[in-house]
Amino acid sequence: MDIKLHCFGASNEVGRSAFILKTDKSVLIDYGIKLFGKDGKPEYPLDLDQRIDAALLSHAHLDHSGFIPNLYKFSKVRWYATPPTRELCELLWKDSMKIMGDELPYRINHFNRALKYWTPVMYGQNMRMGQTDFRFLDAGHIAGSMMIEAQFNRKKIIYTGDFKMEETRLHKGARPIEDANAVIIDSTYAKKEHPSRKEAEKKIADEISETLKAGGSILFPAFSLGRTQELIRIVRAYHKDVDIFVDGMGRAMCEIYMKYPRYIKEPNEFRAAVRSSYFVRGPNDRKKATRDPAVIISSAGMMEGGPVLGYLMNLNSQSRIVFTGYVVEGTNGWKLQNEGYVTIEGQDMDVDLPIENVDLSAHAGRSDILNFIKWANPDKVVIVHSDAAKDFERELKEDFGYDAVAPEIGDTINL
Ligand SMILES: [Zn+2]
Ligand SMILES: [Zn+2]
Repeated sequence: MDIKLHCFGASNEVGRSAFILKTDKSVLIDYGIKLFGKDGKPEYPLDLDQRIDAALLSHAHLDHSGFIPNLYKFSKVRWYATPPTRELCELLWKDSMKIMGDELPYRINHFNRALKYWTPVMYGQNMRMGQTDFRFLDAGHIAGSMMIEAQFNRKKIIYTGDFKMEETRLHKGARPIEDANAVIIDSTYAKKEHPSRKEAEKKIADEISETLKAGGSILFPAFSLGRTQELIRIVRAYHKDVDIFVDGMGRAMCEIYMKYPRYIKEPNEFRAAVRSSYFVRGPNDRKKATRDPAVIISSAGMMEGGPVLGYLMNLNSQSRIVFTGYVVEGTNGWKLQNEGYVTIEGQDMDVDLPIENVDLSAHAGRSDILNFIKWANPDKVVIVHSDAAKDFERELKEDFGYDAVAPEIGDTINL
């Protein structure tokens, strides 16, 4: 019996990851949304054209998890994920319902139903479904993120999900997996090398030192999940006494990180860093945060909404803005970096502060992606979660001799 992969999203694009792995069972792997699709509108995966037996969720980011509640309009399947993933999802889903409201095709009852059908899995755990054996491994991306290994008919398939090999302040990094028949791989940065964490951290520490010395504050626009936690930990590691203010959903995410210490590295150091930070609860705290030189970490990472925009107008002229992650073209974060302005409630506003960039990616860079493929030495590489998938496909085929494929959305691949 063949193994097939049906692609419903994240095919020649980043966002709305959704695949069905078909063995003797039909298993949905990830079911995400694309927050900023064409014209800035959200995009959803293609309609599932077949019955599924279960869903596996690699991690909580909305581009992998955001459409899971939609399953529960018509289905009663179980979805499997680690305990932190489930809790982080609950927060993120609630938040997206708040922000997107009627734009989302599912409602609160589907969200509630989804939470009921969750089943926990752990790293290292084996799970058998029919004749297919699954195993879940630490992906090193955010708390609870996992790679999925499936074995069926003496074939081994790996779905990496978003992964990172390099050790960070919060994660030890994913381990290579040997001898697979097929690898479905996160190729976000297949064409780009990241600086080492050591280098990136040093740059952050220096930015802070210089800015504080000049009497300014540092504003980090940051995703509330993953990036905010790592920044808190990094800033405190280099600057014992600086005031750290954290605004947005990051606080609730930190609580979940602390609740599951086994899913992060050095949980005591993380807890101490969190406990020594101020969590902004309202307008008064926001005023306090900009009164004296400080480090401010605030969502949203791409500056599309969230409290971060408020800070822009209240920072003194010695302050700096430091981006540490990906911004989608057309978002405020992108406009600020490339054109020096943001749009707030329809009004364009120039921002006259230095803008810095530090690459603190939670994804594998080029050499780690290539190394992962080399270790797995697969008969087939499926390139997903990438804007340059076709390019990488050509390179893997021509320069490295792999049978590589960058599927189009709607494609079915034989594994
Ligand atoms: Zn992710
Ligand atoms: Zn992703």
